[in-house]
Amino acid sequence: MKEKLFKYAPIILLAVSSIIWLIAFLLHNIINFVTCIVSQGVLLVCCGIIMKQLHQQAIKDSLTGLYNRRFFLSKLREIPKADFPLALLMIDIDNFKKVNDTYGHLAGDEALKQVTEILTGNIRKSDWGARLGGEEFAIVLSRSDSENAYRLAERLRDIVENFDFSFEQNTIKMTISIGVATTYKCVSINDLLRLADMALYEAKEIRNTVIML
Ligand code: GH3
Ligand code: MG
Ligand code: MG
Repeated sequence: MKEKLFKYAPIILLAVSSIIWLIAFLLHNIINFVTCIVSQGVLLVCCGIIMKQLHQQAIKDSLTGLYNRRFFLSKLREIPKADFPLALLMIDIDNFKKVNDTYGHLAGDEALKQVTEILTGNIRKSDWGARLGGEEFAIVLSRSDSENAYRLAERLRDIVENFDFSFEQNTIKMTISIGVATTYKCVSINDLLRLADMALYEAKEIRNTVIML
């Protein structure tokens, strides 16, 4: 039923608002007219609320609640000049497949949520994170120099290494690798992404490491 409502939403809305205006036209007394205006307003507010919810769903990853890859890339490209220098942390959980293989996919999902909590719980309000896919995350730090970015990355790596992830009766140990890149000018965001990606690639050669380029 709900799916059908969404499928025919434009037609339903057009029909409802047409009926409201038709009633207003036929019953041309002021009280009915006001009632029709109010019901039209309620209809529009409901539409707005649904649009907002759908937008949130479209930009966020359903498991972790972080921004998804598509929104991450578009938000990154729209960062204002005032937010520079900008630091990008690319994060990959080490040997995550093993967590799934050993404890099951649900445990893996829970671990991803707990990693998200660690990441979001240790950044400033102006910083933001995204899940780029699978067990890969990104954190964007506004007005952050490379020293500050490296320090934060190292702290996150350390917290994860020492954290006891839990699922049912199991305690799971995990580590993360982080690639850090910083840009002081509004250089191409593609260059920043490439640099952070290269740094992560180097970090993954060692694992449980932070590499900054
Ligand atoms: P590496 O240290 O080289 O990064 O090894 P890895 O095992 O972390 O990386 P690999 O790319 O081999 O495996 C990633 C795993 O992540 C495989 C996939 O099943 C798992 N995965 C991806 N998305 C999800 C998810 O949403 N939930 C769960 N539970 N697992 C996921
Ligand atoms: Mg990976
Ligand atoms: Mg991995």
